[in-house]
Amino acid sequence: MNTTERDVDVIVVGGGGAGMAAAITAAQAGASVMLVEADARLGGSTALSGGVYYAAGTRVQADAGIVDDTADAMFEYYMTLNQYRVEASLARRLCDEAAAGLHWLMELGVEFRPEDLYRSGVESVARGHAAHGNGAAIAGALERAVIGSPIEVVTRHRVERLLQDQRRQVYGIRSAGADVRSAAVVLTTGGFGASPGMLRTHYPEAARHGAANWYIGSPHCVGDGIILASDAGADIVGHDRGLLLTTPDFRKVLEVFVPGWLVYVNREGRRFVRETAEYAVMAGVVGAQTGGTCFAIFDADAKRSARPAPAYADAFASGALPLNWVAEELDAQIRTGKVIAAATLEELARRCGIRPGALAATVARYNEDVRRGRDSEFFKDAADLRPIAVAPFHAVEILPAIICLTSTGIRIDTDARVLDTNDQPVAGLFAAGETTGGVLGERYIGGGNSIANAIVFGRIAGAAAARRAAAG
Ligand SMILES: Cc1cc2nc3c(=O)[nH]c(=O)nc-3n(C[C@H](O)[C@H](O)[C@H](O)COP(=O)(O)OP(=O)(O)OC[C@H]3O[C@@H](n4cnc5c(N)ncnc54)[C@H](O)[C@@H]3O)c2cc1C
Repeated sequence: MNTTERDVDVIVVGGGGAGMAAAITAAQAGASVMLVEADARLGGSTALSGGVYYAAGTRVQADAGIVDDTADAMFEYYMTLNQYRVEASLARRLCDEAAAGLHWLMELGVEFRPEDLYRSGVESVARGHAAHGNGAAIAGALERAVIGSPIEVVTRHRVERLLQDQRRQVYGIRSAGADVRSAAVVLTTGGFGASPGMLRTHYPEAARHGAANWYIGSPHCVGDGIILASDAGADIVGHDRGLLLTTPDFRKVLEVFVPGWLVYVNREGRRFVRETAEYAVMAGVVGAQTGGTCFAIFDADAKRSARPAPAYADAFASGALPLNWVAEELDAQIRTGKVIAAATLEELARRCGIRPGALAATVARYNEDVRRGRDSEFFKDAADLRPIAVAPFHAVEILPAIICLTSTGIRIDTDARVLDTNDQPVAGLFAAGETTGGVLGERYIGGGNSIANAIVFGRIAGAAAARRAAAG
């Protein structure tokens, strides 16, 4: 970017899923567009993701025989799961337009197969649409559409400032010391999981596990959009929200689904969740226990024959991935002290700070359930039931410490206009995706919540920014 007076209709800041969707949509509406990306290439966390997209009433569902799912049902589920603590109008627009966003991605070449449709949250009908080729396929299709259009792409440029006039109207950006002027700026800089300082301020729940904290997204997602927007007067909403994943903190291994033979107990010595519950809710449930963590308990026999969850069976068989829940790793972690081994359950409880009497009662009840072949508390699959009977007994602390995404962010309205603390739009400024707040709540509704948000509001922001440019 070597010009100081370049004139373009719309500048999009950040080239992940939301940014590329915004840029393509604005260009299709006739706007001249510049897409500025801090990284050497487009994609952001979207390209690293699992590529699951959450939507109701899609053609893919129909092909899978699901013909009666609706945006109404998705909205009801969304609001109930989040106890109505999200911005209802934004959630509604997301539910209404999620299917259209998915079909748009399909038109750009992303393959969502009916056989890959699954229940990615705790919904009663499958809404998790898994892109064939994961997030890289979504980012790849968007990137091809960007490159095939007149959009000017500027990579390796981190936007440092918004240009604002005396009436606080945003009229451009500054990057690498150069100013570029535009009728509208769209902020799509993703989350702030890569910034320890932003996490401490905006997502303290995620920052509290110190060295065990680990962010799995793009290193460029440091919360720039939030800083740029709040400097321009924007309201920031959704404090302390995001999606965490649980970890035994052995190594930085992303093993989201734990094997069913583990038994989780809290410090009161009680089971409190089905150990195989969806990752969308697991970290929240663990975090709500006393001390914000829990312990996975198993005996010597379970450790000896430890196998990872079925989702990782292939990786285990091929040796492709280091895994947490296999015998060699558990033995290694006994030596580091992260797996606690004790000759009796009482000693194990004492060393973990768990109530010993309650742990003994829980284990006795669980062992009786195993004998009967039925988990009478949480109805875990019978094939996952193993007794806790043979010493030494083991415990591992489970921490909700992997940061998948952040949901605190810029306040927007249903047209993706950035709002200030008086509910007034900051003229010329739009935002979409993980940098915004109010859409994603305290509970992740299921795999695909965030990419649907990025694509739906990315398209809305691009269209609204182009309209503003056209209106002069
Ligand atoms: C491993 C992993 C798996 C996931 N799986 C799923 C899933 O299956 N389904 C789902 O819904 N969600 C998933 N998520 C979350 C989801 O991928 C993200 O929340 C979503 O893709 C965010 O999209 P975005 O466009 O808002 O941000 P991003 O895709 O992160 O894009 C933001 C872009 O902005 C750029 N940028 C930042 N600051 C600046 C600046 N100052 N100037 C210029 N550019 C800047 C960044 O470099 C980046 O390219 C996953 C996340 C991870 C990390």
